[in-house]
Amino acid sequence: VSAGVRASRAEVERIPLTQMDAADPGLMQELLEAVGAVARSGAFVGGEAVERFESEFAAWCEASHAVGVSSGTEALVLALRALRIGPGDEVVVPANSFIATAEAVSLVGARPRFADVDSSTQLLTAGTLERALTDRVRCVIPVHLFGRTVEMYPLMELAAHRSLSVLEDCSQAHGARYQGRRVGTIGDAGTFSFYPAKNLGAWGDAGAVVTGREEVAGRVALLRSHGEGPRYHHHVVGTTGRLDAIQAAVLSVKLRRQERANEARRGVAAQLRTALEGNERLLAPAAVPCGCDHVYHQFVIRTPGRDRERIRERLARGGVASAVHYPIPIHLSKAYEHLGEERAAPCASQLAREILSLPIFPSMTAEQAARIGALLREPDGP
Ligand SMILES: *Cc1c(COP(=O)(O)O)cnc(C)c1O
Repeated sequence: VSAGVRASRAEVERIPLTQMDAADPGLMQELLEAVGAVARSGAFVGGEAVERFESEFAAWCEASHAVGVSSGTEALVLALRALRIGPGDEVVVPANSFIATAEAVSLVGARPRFADVDSSTQLLTAGTLERALTDRVRCVIPVHLFGRTVEMYPLMELAAHRSLSVLEDCSQAHGARYQGRRVGTIGDAGTFSFYPAKNLGAWGDAGAVVTGREEVAGRVALLRSHGEGPRYHHHVVGTTGRLDAIQAAVLSVKLRRQERANEARRGVAAQLRTALEGNERLLAPAAVPCGCDHVYHQFVIRTPGRDRERIRERLARGGVASAVHYPIPIHLSKAYEHLGEERAAPCASQLAREILSLPIFPSMTAEQAARIGALLREPDGP
């Protein structure tokens, strides 16, 4: 490589894994005004901004209820508690998810049972759920990982047959549809994270529970604020798990753009797929069958038989960020060593060695997608 080529590489614009709000001046202006309005109102906890976002988010999710909470993890914890899952119970979670899915189960005193995933979709299926069932399993948490919808109906059928509650973890799939229905409305309840880097992100930690079951919504609302009914009348042992008004105001502004943002992500994913064509040793995400959906929180390729680190270094030299979601499946993490489920999920373990997340965000240009494709086509070298 000549010095000239090296110099032009160094000048090349960097492509981050995702893009934050500051990159869009118009959006920034609107968000700062919304935050200013909350600050002037002095209603930082609860109040109009929170109630408005809850009703907007419920309508957008086509759910009868949405309850704002302080994070996606808290959403899982409070939903599990509202579904009366606790000590002595077991809950099936997929072995490849963000660890919060399993943590929430542990935090309510139950035990996670790790299920393997399908090697092509990387998701929990009715089949992998069935293999993970025990007599103590009372609930399952399908995760719409990376934005791809779990094949829900076969799973719902098995869950009904075994009297299991179904809690959808939608933290990576805001707005995705399964058989025409928004995620979160198919099971007993659905949970969302609005962590800044999620498809719908706040300016800090935030989350929500959606449900069609009024008693579940009511119990989450009670638990998130010290089990308080009328002021200082505490009916159950709850917590501080509320959604901040500032986060709610930010989310209301961004929710109005969410449908377009998801559509833009699908367009970028199509461009990345095109850029990967003819590269038979790198596998693009599996095609999305009719009735399923993908909102591409992450664009995750597979690198079977390749040195993933070398590919990542090559991308980095070309100014392109990449990540691995996730390098250690939950059942093999130190946090869950004590459960001794080392052999529980061979597919998830294999995927963890091969997966690679490429940059994806709504404003990515065709040129940027092509640049990523070109870097991936370069030979590995000696
Ligand atoms: C982000 C995430 C969570 C946790 O959300 P936080 O807001 O970070 O607590 C849970 N599950 C999945 C699948 C996630 O991606």
